[in-house]
Amino acid sequence: MPILNRALPTARSRQAEPSALLRVHDARIAEGIRGATPAEAATGFRLAPPASPARANLFQTCASPTCSSGWLKLLRSRSTPCFEGEWCCSQACLRTLIETALRRELDACSAGGETHNHRIPLGLAMLEQGWITSAQLKGALEAQRSAGAGRLGYWLIHAVGVSEQLVTRALCIQWSCPVLNADFHDADGLALLVPRLFVDAFGALPLRAAAGRILYLGFEDRLDNVLAFAIERMTGLRVECGLVATSSFRPAHDSMLRAAFPPVELIEACSEAVLADALARTVERTRPVDSRLVRVHDCFWLRMWLRPQTGAIPAPDSVRDVIASSRTH
Ligand SMILES: [Zn+2]
Repeated sequence: MPILNRALPTARSRQAEPSALLRVHDARIAEGIRGATPAEAATGFRLAPPASPARANLFQTCASPTCSSGWLKLLRSRSTPCFEGEWCCSQACLRTLIETALRRELDACSAGGETHNHRIPLGLAMLEQGWITSAQLKGALEAQRSAGAGRLGYWLIHAVGVSEQLVTRALCIQWSCPVLNADFHDADGLALLVPRLFVDAFGALPLRAAAGRILYLGFEDRLDNVLAFAIERMTGLRVECGLVATSSFRPAHDSMLRAAFPPVELIEACSEAVLADALARTVERTRPVDSRLVRVHDCFWLRMWLRPQTGAIPAPDSVRDVIASSRTH
């Protein structure tokens, strides 16, 4: 079901999907990437060059394989828009590139398939570590059952007095990830990396960008590896996921939601063809120096960089996002 057709899940209720896209090794896609780096070839995806300069050459090849205006355009009058590092001569050619990218994202998703992660139940993991007694586990399970709601971790903390720190550590054992903290959180700076809708709907909290290469991405009680991989491809940053203790996560997440995010346009289309038309029109109108499309769960994220970037975090007011869905997937 398209994401825009229904109420979005909240950060608390969203069940993170398995890392379907995380380890996609689709040789067909890798072959299709011209000039791919070894890492790109291994993942089958090209990572974003967020600092792509505007094309300034006089002689430019249109990237559309179906271009009918000749592959070499002389004295052309346009240097933008560019899509995924490629220039194209017209809105029709741009549409061809976007349609190919939509197809790539859909194929990659189905090639990735479902992965089932068998996690040790939280209570057992904590018993095994000797962090709780079986009486505490029993008490928390009873409290959970009589309340009819709430995660076990919550009841371990609130019904039988287990420390939040231990519950967070146990959740990290379950997810094989580190505990992250939200200290010195720069919500306004990090808001430029990801659309607000994803922070809200998927319960993600960009925590910090280290050395312009690594983005630490926090979650409250479960990782969303699909989102993490999409951000990695879009920003070119390596994304390291971890869990943040609820008492730190929630205030930081709330303040992040109040930050200034890039402008976003929502598009819902009745088919992929209509979606390709709509995205091509938007890119054509916006004339970005570069743009890129990735799939995030059941929607597509198109980001447009309005001017060349000097770092991994976009300059303020230099990016526009589109979040799109079609009813056919
Ligand atoms: Zn063309």
